[in-house]
Amino acid sequence: MSKRSLCAVLLMFAVTSIGAAPVASPLELLVLGSGGPGATGRAGAGYIVLVDGEPRIEVDAGPGTFVRLGEAKLSLAKIDIVLLTHLHIDHTGELPGFFKARAVSGDGPVNVQVFGPTGHRGNGDQATFPSTSRFIDLLFGPEGAYSYLRDFAEPLTIDATNVDASATAPKTPKVIYSENGLNISAIAGHHGDAPAVIYRIDYRNQSITFSGDIDANGIDNLRRIAQRSSLLVFNCVVLDPPGSRPVLYTLHTPPKTIGVVAADTGTKRLLLSHLSPSIDQQRANVEASIRKHYRGPIVFAEDGMRLQL
Ligand SMILES: [Zn+2]
Repeated sequence: MSKRSLCAVLLMFAVTSIGAAPVASPLELLVLGSGGPGATGRAGAGYIVLVDGEPRIEVDAGPGTFVRLGEAKLSLAKIDIVLLTHLHIDHTGELPGFFKARAVSGDGPVNVQVFGPTGHRGNGDQATFPSTSRFIDLLFGPEGAYSYLRDFAEPLTIDATNVDASATAPKTPKVIYSENGLNISAIAGHHGDAPAVIYRIDYRNQSITFSGDIDANGIDNLRRIAQRSSLLVFNCVVLDPPGSRPVLYTLHTPPKTIGVVAADTGTKRLLLSHLSPSIDQQRANVEASIRKHYRGPIVFAEDGMRLQL
């Protein structure tokens, strides 16, 4: 090779290695909050899903996620979808902060679609939960606590859709959003008396499934929707019995079952999140229990963690 052509090759290499922008994975996940209801140093539940490198979807909005959102230095201007797994405070408490940040994040009218569970009227021991549309109305509707936000910065419209999370809900995943190859499907979950939804996001042969908080009664539906997920975000709160308080097993799934579900669904990678202090203290045991069934990569979530799929 002549000196001149060698120079040309070296120059080409320099341009492509310095100038080429990193290629974004079709789907990426940013963990805003990896904790639960306790003030343990982790933010409550919350995630941003990036599509072709652009933040588009917020999943849950627990307390503390607002700060993590700012630390990530991402633009909120294209986030137009919010998925709520259920309406407990550790999953929705930061929603007003998110919407105000979203309202001041760009120029032009803001339109956000919110999906979440149907409501439930409690009796006796069971609590009452509003439907998601009623919940949004109570916060941002004309008579809502934060009704001022609709015209504060830019005109803000929030369209809420209730996903059937009742005991008679269909046992097959339903597509709730489909545009330009981005598909979001949902199926009823189960989290004690709180109506709950499991979501799956599909884009260009990649997929993320969010279990939400889930007890044994929701596991069959999780199996149905999570088949061959690139990433399964599984809320991990309790130890294998009898390591946690009995009442917690009516709300959450132990590591042994997490491992069985991850293996049976052919999940490629498992992200354990919504971590309680007891899980953090016994990570080795938790991982060993899951490993009895599941051979794929297991990741413990941290606030601010960003995963390419
Ligand atoms: Zn929770």
